[in-house]
Amino acid sequence: MELITGTLEKLFEGTVWAEGPVWLPESQTLRWSDIPNNRILEFNPATGRAHEYATAVEYTNGRTLDHDGSVVQCSHGRRRVERDRDGVVTVIVDSFGGRRLNSPNDVVVAGDGTVWFTDPPYGILPGTIEGHQGEQEYGGCYVFRFDPASNELTPVVTDLVHPNGLAFSPDESLLYVADTAGPGLGVPFRIAAYPVAGGVCGDGTTFVELEDGMASDGFRVDVEGRVWTSAGPSVRVYAPDGGLLAAVDVPERVSNLCFGGADGSDLYITATTSLYRLRTSTGDATSGRH
Ligand code: MG
Repeated sequence: MELITGTLEKLFEGTVWAEGPVWLPESQTLRWSDIPNNRILEFNPATGRAHEYATAVEYTNGRTLDHDGSVVQCSHGRRRVERDRDGVVTVIVDSFGGRRLNSPNDVVVAGDGTVWFTDPPYGILPGTIEGHQGEQEYGGCYVFRFDPASNELTPVVTDLVHPNGLAFSPDESLLYVADTAGPGLGVPFRIAAYPVAGGVCGDGTTFVELEDGMASDGFRVDVEGRVWTSAGPSVRVYAPDGGLLAAVDVPERVSNLCFGGADGSDLYITATTSLYRLRTSTGDATSGRH
């Protein structure tokens, strides 16, 4: 069966930089960030309409669904990972060793309830329109694992320059992390893969290297372990061995994507000014968990 079963549909236009998509099973809607406009939007496929879910949100970026149906999201402005439960927003974690985080970018929740997130500096850089300019207080850009049971925050990946999107393989034996620093900062655009055991990451390898202009920002892994990623103005699908399976051109630079829809097989794509959808024959690796 074909992996991609439909053509690209534009659902909404009107963001400056769309990011952070998540499908909400309860409301059957797609929630995402318009970071520079400092707002969160929701699209309802049943009506074909979008509305502003919240404004003055302190520059939220990536988000995911927790096991209890609440939304875990990154806030550049508050420099933290936070929880939105029915519109009530509370902090999950905002500091490491007494120093503030940079500007958490993307987040996943593991099967055991731990919260894994990336912390590049995009929301605190000079001249940023995605947060508030500030200092990098702990002196790195790490991937962290936060355990809500113990309140412990542990760096799990410290060798990437600008860690960005992240996702687990279906059995959570691998953590994929995109590095969006690129050649300008002396490293290739790439997605790295780290073996995971006991909440700790082993040494990483390069899963795929992406050419200049085709960087991966955010991505998801499907039930078969394929990686569906943004890649410049396109979406690409990679097999677990790193082979390219499919590529779909998008008219704008893509930031991120997620599976959703009634049966979980619609791929929602956040791309600069717009939200797009692509029908597929698969679904998220975590589908069935919620
Ligand atoms: Mg991102």
